[in-house]
This record gives sequence, structure tokens and C-alpha cells, in this order.
Amino acid sequence: MAERLQKVIAQAGVASRRKAEKMIVAGQVKVNGKKVTKLGTKVELKDKIEVNGVPIESESLHTYLFYKPRGVISSANDDKGRKTVVDYFDEVPYRLYPVGRLDYDTSGLLLMTNDGELANKLMHPRNEVPKVYVAKIKGTLKPEEIHALTHGVKIDGKKTAPAKLKILRTDDKKNFQIIQLTIHEGHYHQVKRMLQAVDHLVDKLAREKYAFLNLKSLTSGEYRELSSEEVYKLK
Ligand code: URA
Repeated sequence: MAERLQKVIAQAGVASRRKAEKMIVAGQVKVNGKKVTKLGTKVELKDKIEVNGVPIESESLHTYLFYKPRGVISSANDDKGRKTVVDYFDEVPYRLYPVGRLDYDTSGLLLMTNDGELANKLMHPRNEVPKVYVAKIKGTLKPEEIHALTHGVKIDGKKTAPAKLKILRTDDKKNFQIIQLTIHEGHYHQVKRMLQAVDHLVDKLAREKYAFLNLKSLTSGEYRELSSEEVYKLK
């Protein structure tokens, strides 16, 4: 995730942001061996930054478990100016970004990290991290639809991997059902599109679990840092 150079220098504890800006303009800062004097230049985690010829220390690695509220964007910037998940971490002095995405209208468990290696590992399809979702859907599922969802439905012409499904509640009068769906993949809008494939709309969606992690002890909008044991288990 790209960040402003002066912010990165400040976060590394080299100087205040204002001082960092002065150092950039004065030509004291190099990015990947090239002098940068333009304020507002953006850098990524992988970029090598030197101040007066001294590389800045790379950040220590931190991963947080965040209870994402509904109505929040899972990226650092939004061109429509909507609230983003990163806005919740103003007090945290690391460049965090989300591990994968939850839709704007989806709530629940989202990991935020500055550990690129961990993020890549968790998002790699091979790793099959189980994710548990609870969805309120329109209508009620027929046995053949349950069979299709658990054995694989077609999304963009490709069959989804086997999933687990539990019916948590059925309201025939109001014509809705609450289901729990466990999937191992992370395709764009996967849960909504799986349900769409069997002709059901998702009214509400929440992610309750990610791997062995759950949202216990957190309320919407809160976060906690993972312990080193938890991070070790994820790796
Ligand atoms: N599946 C969806 O459709 N949306 C999400 O936010 C997560 C999984």
C-alpha cells in the first residue's frame, strides 16, 4: 500500500513529518538509490529509503484483528471519500492494510497487517484458510440448492470448491433464512455470487471467523493486536 514518503520517514522515528518534508526538499532523501525532492511522492513497503545515506529501519511487523462495521471500505483510499478500514487505525503508527477484502456492506472479521509475507501467504488460494460467514438470505434454500452450494456452483464459469452450510434459522412467514457458510476461497463477492447462482439474494452478510480466529470480546469498529502465538499459528 503506497504511503507518502514524509509519513514513512516520520513513522520510522527519524524525524517529525514537518522535518521529514524539509529533508526531502533539501535533497537528503533517496528512494531506491535515487534522490527524491518532490513532496507527496508515494512509496511502498518494498522501497528502500535512505535519509542522509542511512537506510531507515524497516517497520516491526504487526497484525490486528478488526471488527469491520458495515458501511466501511476495505482499502486505504476511497475516491468517493467514504470511511475506510485504515481510518480506524489512526492511533497505530504502522502502515497497515487489509488482508483481502470485505464488501462495503459486509461486516465482520478482517485482518489488518503491515506484514506483506503473512498477507500474501493468507491470500494465496493454495492455503485454503477457512472463512465462516453468516448470511441473511431472501427465500429458503431447497435441498438441491443446498447440495449445489456445498458441492460447488459456477461463478464466472468456474466451479467453487466444496463448502459447508448450516441453516441457523428459517422464517417462512417473512420468507428469509439465516445460514452459516464456510468457504476456503476468496473470490470477489464470493458468498453473494454463490447464493445468486442458486437464485437467492443476500440481504446481510457478516464474517464471523477467519482460520481459528473469531470476534469474541470485540464490538463493531474495535480491534486488537494478535499475539505472536496467533501470528505463528497463522503462518
Ligand atoms: N463474499 C461476499 O460476497 N462479500 C464479502 O464481503 C465477503 C465474501
